[in-house]
Amino acid sequence: MNEPLRIAIVGAGPAGLYAAAELARLQVPAVTLNVFDRLPCIGGLARAGVAPDHAERRLIIEATEKLARSGGRCEFFGNVEIGRDVQHDELLAHHNAVIYASGAPGSQPLDVPGAELAGCWPANRFVGWYNGHPDEAGLDVDLSGERAVVIGNGNVALDIARLLLKSADELADSDTADRAREAFANSRIREVVIIGRRGPAQASFTHPELRELGQLRDVAIALDANDLAVPGWEPGSFTLMQRREIFERYAGQTRVATKKRLQFRFLTSPVAIHGDARVTGVTLMRNRLDTEPNGRVRAIATGETERLDTGLIVHAIGYRAAPLPGIPFDERTHTVPNDAGRVLADRAGSAGGTYVTGWLKRGPRGVIGSNKQCAAETVRALLADARDGRLTQPAFGMEHFIELLHARQCEFVDYRGWKSIDRHERARADGDAPRRKLCSVDATLRVAGNAPG
Ligand code: NAP
Repeated sequence: MNEPLRIAIVGAGPAGLYAAAELARLQVPAVTLNVFDRLPCIGGLARAGVAPDHAERRLIIEATEKLARSGGRCEFFGNVEIGRDVQHDELLAHHNAVIYASGAPGSQPLDVPGAELAGCWPANRFVGWYNGHPDEAGLDVDLSGERAVVIGNGNVALDIARLLLKSADELADSDTADRAREAFANSRIREVVIIGRRGPAQASFTHPELRELGQLRDVAIALDANDLAVPGWEPGSFTLMQRREIFERYAGQTRVATKKRLQFRFLTSPVAIHGDARVTGVTLMRNRLDTEPNGRVRAIATGETERLDTGLIVHAIGYRAAPLPGIPFDERTHTVPNDAGRVLADRAGSAGGTYVTGWLKRGPRGVIGSNKQCAAETVRALLADARDGRLTQPAFGMEHFIELLHARQCEFVDYRGWKSIDRHERARADGDAPRRKLCSVDATLRVAGNAPG
């Protein structure tokens, strides 16, 4: 009988978990799956990116993890970084194929003078901080000012604005990291300004997220009704009609005394960020819109500027993947060049046995569920290659691989270790919170049973 295909999946976020679940579901041919993550925990962006007050969206972790393990041959190797602990060719030498699903964990840089100042944070760092990502646990977030500015018109910007405006009570049933929970509870922020360089019709917000803002307790929403008159509301689009209705409702809100305010500013771009050691303000440029012959609506600076005082700026202008050692990378799109998930070494052919899925494959767009189809396409390509005899046999067994990890003193966390972490975090949650996260790798490793207590 043929040996099962041994497949490595790099990244235990939604993209990797959907690929594992799909392979386990098909089981033709039989597969053994090894899922790697540089953190000791399963979840990726579903754990460290999804907003903590949307904890129900993290259920995807449990559900896909269960499916992936349903075939009985899926192991987890947490706290193993490919490119640091193990190289790509070593991984491939121990597997028939490797699927990269490590996402787009960085942020697009904000190309504005002063963006490097403390108090101006890229979304991936700020979101990682409130979600307990070990790399960001110590981020020096200062919420002592009255105004915060969030740059970008996507759902990440809305998540950040909402979290900044929620009261401690409203966050009680979330899994916000301890430090962030305390900072939010003591926050003096009274106003959040969301800045979009184009108009409301061009924003990337989705409706449930936009409507949710209207339910924030004690928060008035403000926007200039004139901004709703700018072009781009295609008459036949039901989606745009619904969005316009939401904004019209917000623009028409009767002014009542509220403790906090959320302001949408469209047609506005940051052009300079001020401060010495920390941010103290931002200069904003007013834009106008221009429609190009191809229909794309572009923001053009008008030259009219104003200064806004603030001690906190978060820019949520899109996520971005970084190159992985030994893997081709397109520096223009920040994705791995691929054909339906097969990694392309160059124009001439594929990088044998190497596949990609998720944001690393198609860019940082779409909701968590979009990764399901994406993973199915990659898995189809991989299984077709297996059928056509295009995958090579692993040169070594997994015992050899584990010896390699031990020899490199890599303290990897297996699935049992992850389940100990998971149980521990749930057990120490207060009240209705689903879990209280461990926010350092050392503490997580201790709970996983890897290091002395
Ligand atoms: P996004 O949806 O791509 O939005 C990025 C925003 O940044 C756009 O408004 C873009 O404006 C703006 N932008 C880009 N470069 C800029 C610049 N140099 N200056 C000013 N503005 C700039 O990205 P995202 O918010 O990071 O979200 C990523 C994906 O995750 C999306 O598909 C999103 O829907 C999803 N997500 C979903 C949820 C949810 O379902 N609750 C939550 C979070 C994220 P232009 O359009 O003008 O380029």
